Amino acid sequence: MLFSKLASAFEEVEKRSGRLEMTDLLAGIYRESEATEARKITYLIQGILAPPYEGIDLGMGERFAVQAISSAAGYAVKKVDEDYKKLGDLGLVAESLLGEKRQQSLSAQEMSASYVYDSMLRISKSAGAGSQDMKIKLLAEMLNNSTPQEGKFIVRFVTGQLRLGVGDATILDALSFTAAGDKSLREGLERAYNLCSDLGHVASSFLESPESVLEFRVELFKPIRPALAERLSTPEDIFEKLGKCAIENKFDGFRMQVHKKGKNVEIYSRKLEKITFMYPDVVEAARAIKAGEMIFEGEALAFNEKKNRFYSFQETMHRRRKYGIAESAKEYPLYVYAFDILYLNGEDYTQRSYSERRKALEKVFPSGLFRVSEKKIAESSADIEKAFAHSLEQGLEGIMAKDLGAPYVAGARKFAWIKLKKSYGKSVDTIDVVVVGYYLGRGQRAEFEFGGLLGAVYNPESGKLETVAKIGSGYSEEEMRNFEEMLSEIKTPEPPADLEWKIKPDFWVKPKYVVEVAFDDITLSPTHTCGMKRDKGYALRFPRMMRMRADKDEKESTTTQEVIEMYQLMKEKK
Ligand code: ATP
Repeated sequence: MLFSKLASAFEEVEKRSGRLEMTDLLAGIYRESEATEARKITYLIQGILAPPYEGIDLGMGERFAVQAISSAAGYAVKKVDEDYKKLGDLGLVAESLLGEKRQQSLSAQEMSASYVYDSMLRISKSAGAGSQDMKIKLLAEMLNNSTPQEGKFIVRFVTGQLRLGVGDATILDALSFTAAGDKSLREGLERAYNLCSDLGHVASSFLESPESVLEFRVELFKPIRPALAERLSTPEDIFEKLGKCAIENKFDGFRMQVHKKGKNVEIYSRKLEKITFMYPDVVEAARAIKAGEMIFEGEALAFNEKKNRFYSFQETMHRRRKYGIAESAKEYPLYVYAFDILYLNGEDYTQRSYSERRKALEKVFPSGLFRVSEKKIAESSADIEKAFAHSLEQGLEGIMAKDLGAPYVAGARKFAWIKLKKSYGKSVDTIDVVVVGYYLGRGQRAEFEFGGLLGAVYNPESGKLETVAKIGSGYSEEEMRNFEEMLSEIKTPEPPADLEWKIKPDFWVKPKYVVEVAFDDITLSPTHTCGMKRDKGYALRFPRMMRMRADKDEKESTTTQEVIEMYQLMKEKK
């Protein structure tokens, strides 16, 4: 497929906000693409070069893009910078300057989507001495061959600003439409995606043969999208939903998925990034496990040996670092509470019941720094109540109730697991918001260039971010200083392209950071766009910042649907 065709489709997608229209447009693209190029086309739509666990980053800052635009269009860097200041979007700058090119390229060639993808991959892979010049040269070459519209999307892609607002769900629907004309094949596609976490791979296999997705199995060293828990507000509600069930302590650390084949070990984060190098102690312990091949999940917590207690979540997060790994491993030794097993010695365990998986888990663990979370069987809501109280006494944040007969539901938030957490005000849980803007300090805080955050949640139905709270309290001085620094680096003149908003902060920022927010209540308000209907959206009352969630990316904030569910739960509670 010609890249110009893809670029025109991107232009159309940007204009549409309805999920159906987007699905239709994407299905049109897939119908015209070869199975072999569908993988690359899918990554281009997602704005990535490979699934996150491959760790391939474009590594191209805005400065490089500015230089490449200058060289391809024949304008001075200063002019590109000035236009960028005016337009606030380097993609638009490329579009306008390529439209008024000072130097016409003699041999401009039409580019295929595969060629553009391959060039970007080459940019990402050029490393070492002279690589910066190489990256600029490769990008300038592409821009030389680009129409203004192609140039706009290429520049947005390489600078990480391509935000078409197309969610994973829309891509899966589009694939289903391509073969069946409706959503009927979506379930099989979704399962395949949940098992391999690679939409590009799913797309090319599907276009090759739609049945092939039904044959996807769990594979070692391809992370499985994590199962997520629903929430309910009382032990009675949980017992009514599950009946007799298992209760485990809920640990407040960070989740890891460990894959092991003999001495070969990889660790994946909740975001499915490969984080093996950060945890040599976990790798060593995993190598020593007797079972030859396995995939399991656990919650990692740092232990304070002097005080004989676990560190807090914030302290545990000191272990998530790129440098000083050996020292921090010494200072913050980890324990990993294994809570699920997904693969064991050649067998996919995701379809087996919780009871079976748990039995297998208990056979393998404890081992080294791996422990197994304690499990109790609850025969009544009173049992759940007791376990919950016990977990709070131990300083934990609550419990997980698990359906004894349920399989591991990869990539979905289902009632197979239900969380019950200690409450914050009247609320049943905290929520995680993406920071989309911030406010300047006022009054006492005037000494800071920071006075609060504008937070949004993700709506997977529309692929958009929607604002839900202005968070003005809960910050320590150090946190304010950190936010001031971190956010000033990602300021943007325009609001994020995929954000629905009505309230304007002092500064917009690129959606990047996720923070956990406590609140007292959820109300309907005309200022926030979360789940907005008839000019009223859902908004948090008395929101306060709790902590950063470095283990989540911007698509993993709480969803609009969850906020609405919490609103209903809180209404029932009242
Ligand atoms: P979510 O993972 O549901 O999006 P979250 O990351 O904010 O939300 P919580 O709502 O606190 O986390 O609870 C779910 C998380 O709890 C799991 O993702 C997992 O990391 C952690 N967890 C702790 N103990 C357990 C356990 N025994 N079984 C399953 N998960 C557990």
